[in-house]
Amino acid sequence: MSTREYFTRSPTETIELGRKLVADLQPPKLVLLRGDLGAGKTTLVKGVAEGFQAASQEDVTSPTFTLIHEYRSPLDCPRPAALYHIDLYRIDTQRELETLGIDDLISGSSILLIEWGEKFPRLVKERDVEIAIERLGENDRRVRVTGKL
Ligand code: ADP
Ligand code: MG
Repeated sequence: MSTREYFTRSPTETIELGRKLVADLQPPKLVLLRGDLGAGKTTLVKGVAEGFQAASQEDVTSPTFTLIHEYRSPLDCPRPAALYHIDLYRIDTQRELETLGIDDLISGSSILLIEWGEKFPRLVKERDVEIAIERLGENDRRVRVTGKL
């Protein structure tokens, strides 16, 4: 288990970091994205989705109300993956979590990127990678990547 630390100074740099992290995200992976509201979790996913050629950054929006967004790489791309961007901010109980059916999304080619997953001990236990983003200032962020990389 290793931890790597990065610093970004703009949303653009965080997106760029997301693109770079794709090299470490061989599917299948369950990734927890930690950090306060506005830390930059969704911004980082924009880069991850671009890195997998699954979506352009403008097309990645917060799954606040829809709970799960799915983005797929073209099958002929070098690292095809099915990305599931999940936001559990509004999910409070284990029962509600189960109705989302996250387990059914896990397959050989899937990458689950989960915001607010740390609310559920089961997800903390099962996660492969944790990406923690901390707001240091208006545009400054510290990003710590821990786990099975
Ligand atoms: P979260 O998903 O963690 O709630 P978002 O990615 O939706 O956060 O929002 C992050 C906000 O912070 C955006 O408004 C973005 O423009 C701003 N921001 C400023 N600096 C950065 C940075 N270095 N990295 C990421 N976002 C940043
Ligand atoms: Mg978000």
